[in-house]
Formats: sequence, structure tokens, C-alpha cells
Amino acid sequence: MQNNHTADQESMRKVNTSLVLNSLRLHAPISRAELANATKLNRSTISNIVNVLIDDGLVLEMDTMESKIGRPGIALSLRPDGGAVIGVEIGVGYISVILTDFVANILWREWVDCTTTSPQIEIITRVHDLIDQAISFASSRQLRLLGIGLGVPGLVNTKSGELLFAPNLGWRDVPLRLMFNQRFHIPIYVENEANLGALGEYYFGVGRDVDHFIYISSGVGLGGGIIINGKLFKGGHGFAGEIGHIQRDPQGEMCGCGRRGCWETQVGPRAVLQRVKHAMESEPDQSTGKPVEEDPEKFTFNQVVDFALKGNQICRSAMEEVGRNLGAGIADLVNIFNPQMVVIGGAFSYGREIILPVIERMVASETLPAVRQDLRIIVSEHGADACVLGAIAVVLDDILREMALV
Ligand SMILES: [Zn+2]
Repeated sequence: MQNNHTADQESMRKVNTSLVLNSLRLHAPISRAELANATKLNRSTISNIVNVLIDDGLVLEMDTMESKIGRPGIALSLRPDGGAVIGVEIGVGYISVILTDFVANILWREWVDCTTTSPQIEIITRVHDLIDQAISFASSRQLRLLGIGLGVPGLVNTKSGELLFAPNLGWRDVPLRLMFNQRFHIPIYVENEANLGALGEYYFGVGRDVDHFIYISSGVGLGGGIIINGKLFKGGHGFAGEIGHIQRDPQGEMCGCGRRGCWETQVGPRAVLQRVKHAMESEPDQSTGKPVEEDPEKFTFNQVVDFALKGNQICRSAMEEVGRNLGAGIADLVNIFNPQMVVIGGAFSYGREIILPVIERMVASETLPAVRQDLRIIVSEHGADACVLGAIAVVLDDILREMALV
């Protein structure tokens, strides 16, 4: 394109470089001709940009390959050793950290359980230590660290990197980016965990090539990430998707947000355990298939699933009731958004044999036939990793754009 204004030319070059880098990330290995097709840029522009990226150590030329359009060509891809990225999730009762290379291969990972009552300073210190370990690993491989993505279960101002409110952690107004920047002098990205889960599935999981889907993250809380037209729907201030706090029972139990009867109080693993405990207390004589553990307080969610799969009626009924509550809320979301897919992430990847059919039945009976046409309800491919992988995706997406802006 002809343009005599140098600043405009420079800006155009950056935008084009960003297009090329992101196409490489999504479609590599890919030939120059295919890159031109994918980006709608002309061949000479592609060649110029690719040459600069090869010189910068970010792009790799591979041996000749069979081109998708029938001619042999040189395949291009991002260099795995172009850099390293860290993804972190601060969950309720755990911390998960992974380190990946420039093309999102996992190189190192650590998962640490912590008590839900641990003080904030203790958890932050623990996260710092884990990041230090990841950085040491990256250094041992001579990989330069490009950024850290951080997922938290609450409302996040992504511009300032501040966590405004995380009811299930009991945290308010925590300037996370500032706190991490003081220690790690690289770009820090902070996002809501369910939003990252949705991005993790969109880039690396069952949501690849699906432009409209809803990711539901069920753990201690219930979060949602909504992908519309291939983009995360963030709303006016970035807080969209707080589906866990839709009120579904005005007489229900208190929620961590301070209100009563929110959807998240009806549907998580905690709700399953409460129902089992309640049923065992109110029907002490029911001996058929009664859980072998004496004390229902000691059950874990996974144990309840195991009992249910072995035919225990108390455990199965509890799972099914929670599945109906989950399905009823999902049906509302399907009526509103008409998604192509609903992805269930978090705890229910365990016990999916019981939960999924119940959800499917509820959605079939509570939605309009037209809106559920071709709808798929699927359990997350990455389970507990969806959020940290989404954190990696956010960093890579932005870093690739930033590199193009240098
Ligand atoms: Zn609530």
C-alpha cells in the first residue's frame, strides 16, 4: 500500500507483523503462500516480515513440506525456544503453576494444595516461590521469560490488574499486578479464572474452531466465560459472566457474595456433599448401598462419585439433584445466548457419566427447540488445567502483539 507518511507505514507494518505472528501461532506449520492467504497480505509483505522474524529468533524455517495447495514449500513456525511463559491459577484451596515454551508446550508444572483459610500474604508468598522455581527452570534452558498470566476466582479490573472481590477467597481490592511487578519485572496479566478457562478451551481444547460457546467452571464457586464471535465477551467493565450469582432460590442458603440462593450455592461439589450428609442424617436406617465411611463429614467429592458409580442411591441422588440444578441454569443460558457448545469445566469432569445425562435432559426440556439445535454439551478437555492454559494464551496473544509493536 502506498503511503508517504512514515508513521503510518510503521503502524501498518506493526499491525501486519501481529497478523503474521498470530497466524503462525494458530496455524503453523504453514507456508508463506498459506500465510498470505490467511492474512490477506501480499507475498512480498509476508516475505519481508518473515525475514525480520527469522533474524529476531522468533520464527523457524523447516524442511520442505507438501503444501496444502499441492506444491512443495518451506514451512514456517514459531520457534519453541523463542521464549517462555508462566501461567498461574490461585484457586480456592490450591495453587497451580505451569511454565510453557513459546508454542505452549508444558515444560514444568507444580500443583500445591493450601487451606482455604490461609492468610492472603501466605498464599501470595507461596505463589512467588513457585514462580521463582519456574523461572529457574526457564533459565536452565536458556529461555527468556516473556510474561506471567494470573487467574483468580473473582472480579478483576484487567486494565489495572487489580482483584476487586473474590468471595470464596475472602479477598477484596488486591492490587495483584502491582504486587507481582514489584518482584518480577516482566509483563503481568490478571484475569478472572472462568474467563481464562474459556480462553484455554478456545485456544487449546474442545472450543477450538467454535465461535460461540459458554464455559462453566464449577468448583467451590461457579464462574462463566462467554465466547461470542471467537472473542471473550467482557461486558462494559470486564465483569461479564458472573453466572454463579444469578439468584435461583430466594429462600436458599447464603452465598459468599452476601446474598441468598445464588446458583453457585446449588451446584458445586460442596452442594453434592451437603446433600449426601443431609440424606444420611435424615435416613440413618437406609442400609442399601450406604457409604462405607462412617462420618459423612470426611467424604470427598470424588469418593461420593465413586460410591454413586458403584450403585449407592444416596450418592447418586445427590449427584442427580445437583445435575438438575446445573442443567436448569444452563438451559437459561442456552435460551439467552444460543451457543454452539457448553463446556463444563472444574470438578464435574469427575462424575461426568452421572451429571452429563441429567444436564442434557434438563436442557432438552427447558429450552426452545430452535435454540438447542446442534448444541453440544461437553466436559472440558483440560479439566483443572483450562485456567492456567488460558493464562498462557492471554500472555502469548498479547506478547505477540507487543513484539509486533516494538
Ligand atoms: Zn452469590
